[in-house]
Amino acid sequence: MVRENEVRENEVMVEAPPPVDAGLVFIGRIETPWNSRMETPRQGRHDGPVCIIEVFEPWVAALQGIERFERLEILYWLDRSRRDLVLQSPASNGKIHGTFSLRSPVRPNPIGTSIVVLEKVEGARLYVKGLDCLDGTPLIDIKPDRCLFTPIAPPQKGDFETSHNVPAKR
Ligand code: SAM
Repeated sequence: MVRENEVRENEVMVEAPPPVDAGLVFIGRIETPWNSRMETPRQGRHDGPVCIIEVFEPWVAALQGIERFERLEILYWLDRSRRDLVLQSPASNGKIHGTFSLRSPVRPNPIGTSIVVLEKVEGARLYVKGLDCLDGTPLIDIKPDRCLFTPIAPPQKGDFETSHNVPAKR
């Protein structure tokens, strides 16, 4: 069966170190209509179904002010993903791509990110559109969409560098 945990023609698996999830705190969970990867969209759509991001205590107070942002960046942990492929064949046709040139859920640290549209906030629950994860996916972080966010702290040296200040690529 494709798009589960199989290894396809020409894909390359490595002996990865045992997965360790230490260093992260799951701050909530995501409710979506999808229980199978075969049905989950590969990338979320802003006209997709409403999904619910539930934030756990003691992090609920951190939602203060979130309703001001029309769009949010959501980071989540693709917990049911394998983590040991360095070359992958997304089309299952033997043509391979390096993991870091893909947005595949199969990666050493399976972090997913999506920009979602915020529909409403009810207490600890955010109603959003634009996700592409399985029901029950652990939540890692929530940030305002960077295009909508202006830093609140006073500007400091380095904030306004222009491209001609950036060292050229070697
Ligand atoms: N939008 C994110 C990104 O670009 O970082 C994730 C994209 S990834 C291609 C989305 C796919 O990951 C879904 O179609 C599904 O097959 C898979 N997926 C979703 N939730 C998952 C989970 N909790 N564990 C493992 N795989 C998951």
